[in-house]
Amino acid sequence: RRWYAGRHVVVGGTGVTGAAVTRALQSFGARVTVFDRVDSPALAALAETGADVLVDPAELPGDLEQIVVSPGFRPDHPLLAGPIAAGIEVFSEPELAWRLRPGPRPTPWLTVTGTNGKTTTVTMLATILRSAGLRTTAVGNIGVPLIDAVLDPEPYDVLAVELSSYQLHWSSTLAPAAAALLNLADDHLSWHGDFASYAEAKAKLWYSPETVAIGNVSDSRVAELLAAAPGRRVGFSLHTPAPGQFGVVEDLLVDRAFTDDPAQATAVGTLGEVRPPGPHNVANALAAAALARSHGVEPDAVAAGLAAYEPEPHRNALVRVTRGGVTWVDDSKATNPHAAEASLRAYPRVVWVAGGELKGVDIGPLVASVADRLVGAVLLGVDRAEVAEALRRHAPHVPVREVSRADDGAMTEVVAAAAELAHPGDTILLAPAAASRDMFPSYAARGHAFADAVEKLAAASPLDR
Ligand code: ADP
Repeated sequence: RRWYAGRHVVVGGTGVTGAAVTRALQSFGARVTVFDRVDSPALAALAETGADVLVDPAELPGDLEQIVVSPGFRPDHPLLAGPIAAGIEVFSEPELAWRLRPGPRPTPWLTVTGTNGKTTTVTMLATILRSAGLRTTAVGNIGVPLIDAVLDPEPYDVLAVELSSYQLHWSSTLAPAAAALLNLADDHLSWHGDFASYAEAKAKLWYSPETVAIGNVSDSRVAELLAAAPGRRVGFSLHTPAPGQFGVVEDLLVDRAFTDDPAQATAVGTLGEVRPPGPHNVANALAAAALARSHGVEPDAVAAGLAAYEPEPHRNALVRVTRGGVTWVDDSKATNPHAAEASLRAYPRVVWVAGGELKGVDIGPLVASVADRLVGAVLLGVDRAEVAEALRRHAPHVPVREVSRADDGAMTEVVAAAAELAHPGDTILLAPAAASRDMFPSYAARGHAFADAVEKLAAASPLDR
């Protein structure tokens, strides 16, 4: 911290995190210049705190000694090329927070990363830790700056930290007490350049032999990286666990890693209590349980935490059950095919509501792998034709409706079409496999629009009221 007194640091990005970083660095006496591409109100607000502002990357201050970037910055960003070539350190907020942890016994971090399931797992973990009586909070990529938690005058017992591949790209020395890697799929490839550098960013957390590496051994790419981790390695899967692993035996989630007798399996939860439903969330629960057990949380407290967990919205959230036992589910957060595949596998017969911005990812393999459970599909959004084409090729038996309008009434049409395709007992699942920005401000707005349209449909139909 003392290093920062009088030093000149550039902060890239003016979001919640950029503001928190600026505040922290100023409190250590640093001179801060904040960069953003446009002269925004957020930039103006930071200027009022005494920071200098910069909108032209060509005008970087000459005495600059460090750059803290928000994770959206690509490695080839014009702000960074020159400084990186000149040997100036560039890193992200989690790395800064890690370096600024107060000694001599800093709060341990339990981290979660992976393509999908991060927020679910990290919030499950925080619930478990709380049920064990620990003072904790879920921070990081979930939207709460780490730096605020690390500098909190009242220290936390332990932190539940969500990290994205972007944040990890811009980190170098993080060595959490335990780090879980949930899965690796081809999301965000265009950002990282290729899969190898994406996987490398995710595996960074396992570099230290001090870190307990927790990984999903049913994901072959994760399993491969886990085998190379230098510290203690704990695998998890939905199967009967080998000694040293977490897994499932009958209707129990079990620990065969952090037990006194590895010949025995210790129950840390029951399948029936895992929420939201679906095998993917059982995997998330096992990862959260393993992280908590690595920190010494008792098996009963893990089970109590999982049972008490309140799911985050728009993640396999039940909207309502309508006539004939048709169940409407909002998984708007399934913004890529890997997420949508996990989601679709949670239900036996699905009318699938999909489409949006595919971000260049091939949807064919997803459609092929879930074709047997699809009984209908309603498509929306800019890339709906690609989804329709994949359905024609891999699931020709599935009736498809396309909704071409993109205005406020679009979801009403989507929901009406889905209701027509559903048979009694079916699930109608919004799991778009695509980003929402072509039609909605966010995945949450998309989920709300879906739920609202379902409610309106139910209200208009006397039997559903
Ligand atoms: P993230 O924070 O990584 O985006 P979330 O917990 O918000 O993950 O879940 C996002 C979506 O990913 C969920 O709505 C669900 O469709 C899917 N999902 C959740 N957990 C998993 C998992 N373990 N494997 C695959 N897909 C998952």
